[in-house]
Amino acid sequence: MTLIENKILNTDDSRLPRILEDKLDGINDIAIISHVNPDGDAVGSSLSLYHYFRKTGRNVNVILPNQCPDFLRWLPGNNDILIFNKKQSAAVDAIEKAGLIFILDFNTPSRADKAQELITGSDAFKIMIDHHPQPDDFADVIICDVLASSTAELVFRFIESAGDPKLVDRVIATCLYAGIMSDTGSFNYNSSQPETYRVLSELLKRGIDKDHIYSMIYDNYSENRLRLLGYCLESKMVVLPEHKTAYMSLSLAEKKKYKYIRGDAEGFVNYPLSVKGVIFVAFFMENDDHVKISFRSKGGIDSNIFAKENFDGGGHVNASGGESKLSLDDTINKFVSLLPEYTREKEI
Ligand code: 5GP
Ligand code: MN
Repeated sequence: MTLIENKILNTDDSRLPRILEDKLDGINDIAIISHVNPDGDAVGSSLSLYHYFRKTGRNVNVILPNQCPDFLRWLPGNNDILIFNKKQSAAVDAIEKAGLIFILDFNTPSRADKAQELITGSDAFKIMIDHHPQPDDFADVIICDVLASSTAELVFRFIESAGDPKLVDRVIATCLYAGIMSDTGSFNYNSSQPETYRVLSELLKRGIDKDHIYSMIYDNYSENRLRLLGYCLESKMVVLPEHKTAYMSLSLAEKKKYKYIRGDAEGFVNYPLSVKGVIFVAFFMENDDHVKISFRSKGGIDSNIFAKENFDGGGHVNASGGESKLSLDDTINKFVSLLPEYTREKEI
């Protein structure tokens, strides 16, 4: 067993090119896996790596545990993705025959949902590329930089380390840009490192149409989504000034009323953070058998720790998620009861 510390590398680590040369040598079948409820970074980083490895002549498959929202399905290569809960046998085959498995944008096996045992049980060499803190020990090499804006940024740097920046064409750059833009809220957060802008500049040189990518992702919502947002802000937002906290929730009945489809509430959790004085926000979404929770924070509140300690989740310092098997009301009550401990004396 190698100590996990010895497996963690950044993209500029001098050992990386050698490891890649070694591990890619003779490998024909590659599987790329990202996390359940895939977001723009999950899909953008996976598809960019997919196109890259295809250009190197490999047989490569992208596997996602479940379908991504509509506004990401235009990304080039999307139709080739194997959705585990729809095409299970093809997805299982792809993972089982892979000699190399890439784990993108997650660092704990449960995020692979039903594919988790296949990944942890596989003998294939596993390379994780991710930007979340505190990775679990289930990959052979962990390419991790918590300062990176996104996994997509790291994929570009990975391709550079592999010596192939010239293979990054307009298609790959489009997927990468979509990932970086999504994970930074269009460069509003997670985007204070000069390195991110060096990578973006390289992507722009590949001729991407950044305004078109923005529009395809952010101007493609249904009318229902906007009405649902209006309803949430008007009727569901609860502000607790004494805890510098706000929250919103959606029940199954409310989702039905607004003909909710997956992705419709994407980004809602960010709105209450714009209320003066609010530094912690939760969004509760009731599903058939659990409540999914999104957290956002500013400054001293570590939402990753909060999610990990209380709601079986994780993520980043200022953006995390988790879930609860309690009822919606009980979940909210639990959240509110925890606030004094976590928000006391916290400032932006
Ligand atoms: P979102 O609120 O947009 O779904 O997720 C925000 C961040 O938290 C993302 O980085 C995502 O990967 C992470 N995250 C969301 N839900 C979970 C979860 O259930 N477990 C873990 N470990 N991370 C999560
Ligand atoms: Mn990400």
